[in-house]
Amino acid sequence: MDDATTCLVCREHSGDVALPGGFLLDNRHVVAFHCPPLPDHERPYLGYLFVTSRRHVPSFAELASIEAAAMGEAIGVASAALKSEGAERVYLATIGHGASHLHVHLIPRWPETPADIPWMRVDEWEGARRGGAEEVEAMTRRLRTHIEVE
Ligand SMILES: [Zn+2]
Repeated sequence: MDDATTCLVCREHSGDVALPGGFLLDNRHVVAFHCPPLPDHERPYLGYLFVTSRRHVPSFAELASIEAAAMGEAIGVASAALKSEGAERVYLATIGHGASHLHVHLIPRWPETPADIPWMRVDEWEGARRGGAEEVEAMTRRLRTHIEVE
């Protein structure tokens, strides 16, 4: 089990892992950012966001109510930004097998996605929007403009 020194999410919070475009949201209880390019995952799905708890806790069950409320608000704001950017839907998931630090996956369904692609495969089909650091940074910048306006 990872702890706060080895945890990927904590390393993303601390700046130890490069996040092109920086944080999308950053407050007392919540940090949100675009899925970054990683050595084993160099071209992430564009618009794939993580809303994470500031504290290193494994799931919603360990959050104080004020932290859970802040997570919900951030998920709403980030989802609205993705929809403003053209997403038809925003799927949410928490799984937790990869890192024992609460991170909600926000997965947009872009309008060109074929109807027969199921929700958990929207990032896997041949035409899925993917990008490296430059595209991730540009997407983060565009999403941030929607957040600042709203
Ligand atoms: Zn952590």
